[in-house]
Amino acid sequence: MTVPAIPHRTKICKGCWQEMHLPVPLRGPLSLPFRVFGIRPSRMNPNTCTICELMFTKVMKARNVTIDATIMFADLRGYTSLSQSLPSTAVSGLLDAFYDECANAIWEQDGLLNKTIGDAVMAVFNFPIRHHDHPGQAVRAARDIQRRWLGRKQALRQELSLENSELGLDIGIGIHCGELSFGEFGHTHRDLTAIGTVVNMAARAQAAAAPGQILVSREMVQRAQSELTEAKAASYQLKGFDSSVELFTA
Ligand SMILES: [Zn+2]
Repeated sequence: MTVPAIPHRTKICKGCWQEMHLPVPLRGPLSLPFRVFGIRPSRMNPNTCTICELMFTKVMKARNVTIDATIMFADLRGYTSLSQSLPSTAVSGLLDAFYDECANAIWEQDGLLNKTIGDAVMAVFNFPIRHHDHPGQAVRAARDIQRRWLGRKQALRQELSLENSELGLDIGIGIHCGELSFGEFGHTHRDLTAIGTVVNMAARAQAAAAPGQILVSREMVQRAQSELTEAKAASYQLKGFDSSVELFTA
């Protein structure tokens, strides 16, 4: 299937355009009649709309679907210890800044900001906006997060008087791709998310990443070749994996 190109410079829903060739305005005066009917930008990706979220409803009816996707975890290092020593008002600004930079980088690459889990975010690429190069999109988003954060970090460290502290406030990122289950899981707390070994591996890679580092799996290197020509391999002992796993620095 060929995906139609999105009209240049129009703020229409990317998901509706791709799936139905339907131009749904998301912002500006043209969007007002749509808002009357409750059609507005999605909170998980403002380049898609609430009609696209009906796709989630379909998924929910099926309970879950198997999709080929890329999962990225990004984690703000040092946040936990900071939140124990500083007032909550001081650290909430830090977390907001982290979420904002991650969200903008992820949305720019058509990813879904699926979850914020304390000081970490989880993103899904290739749902609901499809793209054959979702591994490449995730790598570009990860690099963009690191680049954006360099600019924010210094100001935030000054604000929190951390100039002489060991807390670097760096971000560690892990990425893996492959088939996973996406849908609604759990009975007491219903949650729309992805599960499976691909997700676990991405989370473990994030945990293994050094501050400021992006670690990706071998599958990522194979599928995002043009982005990862200089990726360097190292062996890691990951929690929950019996043998050592080879991960690559992106
Ligand atoms: Zn839409």
